[in-house]
Amino acid sequence: MTMNNQEGLLIVISGSSGVGKGTVCSKLLESQPNMKLSVSHTTRPPREGEKEGINYFFTSKDAFEANIENDAYLEWARVYDDYYGTPRDFVEQNLNVGIDTLLEIDTQGAILVKEKFPEGIFIFLLPPSYAALKARLEGRNTETPEKIAKRLSQFQAELARVPMYDYVVVNEEGKVDETVAKIQAIIMAEHLKFEHSKDYTVFSMEGDTL
Ligand code: 5GP
Repeated sequence: MTMNNQEGLLIVISGSSGVGKGTVCSKLLESQPNMKLSVSHTTRPPREGEKEGINYFFTSKDAFEANIENDAYLEWARVYDDYYGTPRDFVEQNLNVGIDTLLEIDTQGAILVKEKFPEGIFIFLLPPSYAALKARLEGRNTETPEKIAKRLSQFQAELARVPMYDYVVVNEEGKVDETVAKIQAIIMAEHLKFEHSKDYTVFSMEGDTL
């Protein structure tokens, strides 16, 4: 599928667990009326406060595997010990009617999405430092020490994949609004790119010549 001037932008945000992606993405969504979040399916259990259909669709392993068989995922990955997948229909339907669609997915998933949507916009969110990332993971008290250690060791592997992203944004401590403003600037600039511009097409449709 290629993007034409009627389609929304596909925006992919990745970053290590604990970098603050959730907060950044929800603030970004509040500020962008033409953007929807693709809510992923996962087999991991909900964390406290997480809601079905808002944070994830929580599914069983059997249901997830059946969806894989039916090609219902644009991409899916095994992250840590669980499956995560992006529902294909939701993304394609939104893009087709001009809605910007945000995927908050890991680096393995981003690579697969890039193969299908090379015109997507790929943004990597970095913590200010390794120490800050570790402190955030320990401070949120939602994971066992083993899970934290696993997530920290994944960080190195994720860093190796940063060069495939178009943009790198550091989420500085206590400066989430600044991080969101940077991503808004990226999205605005991408909409103004020649290949995404609807304004130019209107002129050419009316027969104007340059
Ligand atoms: P968490 O369990 O902390 O919510 O998410 C763990 C990791 O899975 C995060 O890096 C998150 O971005 C990623 N993730 C969430 N949904 C998806 C998805 O649909 N596909 C892929 N590939 N990764 C996902």
